Amino acid sequence: MVDMRADDTPELQAWRQEVRDFLAEALPEPWTFWYDYDEDPESWERYLTFWRKVAEKRWVSLTWPKEYYGLGRSAIEKWILDEEFVAHDVPTYPVIGRQVSELLMRHGTHEQRLKHLKGIADVSVLWGEGYSEPGAGSDLAGLTTKAHRDGNEWVINGQKTLGTAAHVCQWMSVLARTDPDGPRHAGLSCFLVPLDTPGVEMLPLNNMADGRQNMTYFDDVRIPAENLVGDENQAWTQVWFGMGGDKLDNALPGTDPHTLRIIPLFARVLRYCQQTNRGGQRLADDPLIRQQLGELMVGVETLKVQAFENYSRAQTRKPGKFGAASSHLSAAFHKEFWPHLAQVCMEIVGPMAQLKGGRWAQLNGELEHYFRASFGNHAGGTSQLKRMVLATRGLGLPR
Ligand SMILES: Cc1cc2nc3c(=O)[nH]c(=O)nc-3n(C[C@H](O)[C@H](O)[C@H](O)COP(=O)(O)OP(=O)(O)OC[C@H]3O[C@@H](n4cnc5c(N)ncnc54)[C@H](O)[C@@H]3O)c2cc1C
Repeated sequence: MVDMRADDTPELQAWRQEVRDFLAEALPEPWTFWYDYDEDPESWERYLTFWRKVAEKRWVSLTWPKEYYGLGRSAIEKWILDEEFVAHDVPTYPVIGRQVSELLMRHGTHEQRLKHLKGIADVSVLWGEGYSEPGAGSDLAGLTTKAHRDGNEWVINGQKTLGTAAHVCQWMSVLARTDPDGPRHAGLSCFLVPLDTPGVEMLPLNNMADGRQNMTYFDDVRIPAENLVGDENQAWTQVWFGMGGDKLDNALPGTDPHTLRIIPLFARVLRYCQQTNRGGQRLADDPLIRQQLGELMVGVETLKVQAFENYSRAQTRKPGKFGAASSHLSAAFHKEFWPHLAQVCMEIVGPMAQLKGGRWAQLNGELEHYFRASFGNHAGGTSQLKRMVLATRGLGLPR
């Protein structure tokens, strides 16, 4: 087991205790909710109410600079906060808002930061991501949504797909082609689009794990010129590789606690195997299951080490071994490990894992839902794409 403790000073130990005390009060009962795989309005209300309590303490923006609604605290403190939140099964903050905060810290103007970071920090504004299109997922540079300048406005036309939770969001970051004649990668720009603008329409894409992505249509959608982020035609390098790249800016740390959800889940499966008998034998004593659990544990520990490395890069502000591609290593690993773990755990627990309620249900059906949700490993780019980035950008191999 990896045993790296972040809180090796009295100050950090006190900080961990402060987080625990907060959770004991704000989240007295264990509660699992995945914002990307749950459409129940009551659960959403509870989720947002909880995160607004976190926001009141300014812990959503813990590491951001003070001038942008943050507390300017360290990546180690953020690690401790995330570790406690994960250990208490706290549902993760809507991840796209975090990505937009990183985007604005890197490439936004001072005015854009002042305008938008507050809503992300106090959870009053939710963000969707409009990058993928029906014909442009892995091959994102093939996107065809267009934007052209008309006086003081940009006019957007096109279609986006797979927008996670976009139907509950107020804003969306949108990639569009602004130079139709230039090279594919060089003619893209990023825009901040209020979703109540005339010409925006949305249709549901219900996913197989009880959540919803969205098709979003843009029909002559007019937004102010100042809603362009970064430089015109530079979104490929600034936004796309900036977002998946070295992640060394102030909105950090970059490791998504999303990925760390595997840790408490695996602990529950392990406990289950230690406490459950089948055929007169504890599951944990069955040689095959022991081997399966041992193999999964190696994966869970690898994930932890990679997370430590990401937070450490955030703390030291040094790029990792693979430069701007470093975070793709943990992403590729997680994307492959997640469905594997879900499948092996389903095999261990057996068919009753599919039941959610009743006396025969095992682990409240959590594993079966986890298994169905594991297709979500495609979000943010598939593992094959992450491997390709590692090979080309990280190792310098030819395409
Ligand atoms: C749950 C979920 C949430 C999402 N949320 C959002 C969101 O909020 N906003 C958004 O913009 N997008 C979102 N996406 C879209 C996501 O970014 C795309 O699914 C992803 O980039 C893959 O694109 P695709 O689905 O079109 O698959 P394709 O690109 O068609 O790929 C199909 C398969 O081919 C493989 N493949 C493709 N090209 C290569 C290659 N060159 N080398 C090797 N293998 C290759 C892929 O790895 C994959 O296995 C979401 C997706 C999911 C599943």
